[in-house]
Amino acid sequence: MWRYLPNDFRIRSLYDVGVDWPITYDDLEPWYQEAEEKTGVNGSTDTGSPRTKPFPMEPVAEVWAMRRFRERLAPEYPVVSNTAARNSRPYDGRPACCGANNCQPICPIDAQYTGGTAVAAAERAGVVIQENAVVYRIEAAPGGRIAAVHYFDPDRGSHRVTGETFILAANGIESPKLLLMSADDARPRGISNSSDQVGRNLCDHPSASLTFDAEDELWLGRGPQSPSSINTLRDGPWRSQHAPFRLDFTNISQLRGAAEDLIAEGVYGPAFERELRRRAAHQCNVKNVIEVLPNPENRVTLSDKKDALGLPHPRVSYSISDYVERGMEVSVQHFARIAELMGGTNLRYTPKGEYANNQHITGTLGMGADPARSVVDGWGRAHDHENLFMVGTGVMPTSATVNSTLTALALALRTAHHIEQG
Ligand code: SF4
Repeated sequence: MWRYLPNDFRIRSLYDVGVDWPITYDDLEPWYQEAEEKTGVNGSTDTGSPRTKPFPMEPVAEVWAMRRFRERLAPEYPVVSNTAARNSRPYDGRPACCGANNCQPICPIDAQYTGGTAVAAAERAGVVIQENAVVYRIEAAPGGRIAAVHYFDPDRGSHRVTGETFILAANGIESPKLLLMSADDARPRGISNSSDQVGRNLCDHPSASLTFDAEDELWLGRGPQSPSSINTLRDGPWRSQHAPFRLDFTNISQLRGAAEDLIAEGVYGPAFERELRRRAAHQCNVKNVIEVLPNPENRVTLSDKKDALGLPHPRVSYSISDYVERGMEVSVQHFARIAELMGGTNLRYTPKGEYANNQHITGTLGMGADPARSVVDGWGRAHDHENLFMVGTGVMPTSATVNSTLTALALALRTAHHIEQG
């Protein structure tokens, strides 16, 4: 649940790369705070994003392994607590984190905020949720206003829903897919797509990592799975030359991976137990979360393949730029230095080009001041349709170096307030 840095909103002006947002960090700051209060965010104030109020709660107790990283990497690399929607004390009817280390895919005790928490609150407030309704078409009236949406029920019965204001919130892949699917005679490129920008500029965060055996016994696997990181490489003048990044330490138990490696190596019996204990205690990992710049050719379009309802799958085109590759090369130098400071041995780098994705989809509904080069304005309103708003990570025109959820939530709250104000 990271905030962007103020400079993340102005990378075209400052570094001559990417695009500027139509809004600034200061415009979003109160909404960041509200999003943090709604979801229960704890964290360190030392991450470079200015605040006008404190975090809703103090950080979760520091994990032993992260303490050793912090102590051994100082002062060269400040290791700080990650900001996360994870309760360090009972908050909003949910319990404090008990450190069971199952945060991904889901916290079994609800110490970590999820979309389900929001859905329950919305239903308590009187919102009616139509389950199993797959919207397949947005219908525009001749003048451009959105008149209705059409959805299939599970038996493929079709229904039409009218309204005054429509909010598209199916995130960065399905939202552009729905807009493209809604093409009609008057709008052959799809709804809200006179600019031909819908689905373009898809960004995620590719990640490379280094796994190594630290000199200390770290015993990863107790406490939150993603507790700490290094934030000093997220912004600087070199951003005009190579991608910036955040360095993140995993706290996922190494037992399974180490056991699989040993079995593959043919190690059995007492030697297996001895070696598994050693690797489970010493093995660790640091990864980068790297900024991808918007590229119109990285995009979501409609596939020829159909799903069970006969609707097209999304087709995704995506390539990694030299800007990112140069950032990867710089990260590798930092990985090596971190391993050295940790007394690391048995260094295993991600092979060049074999990057993991991070599901931080941005850009496909990008906001901007120029209707010819963006899909929505700074309030999330479609340039082409006055009563259609879009929320979710897709409206974020750049990806920065942090998970996209908190920024998307802050933008959504700001959009909701704007709609409410009329
Ligand atoms: S460590 Fe993760 S899974 Fe365990 S209680 Fe805390 S948030 Fe939930």
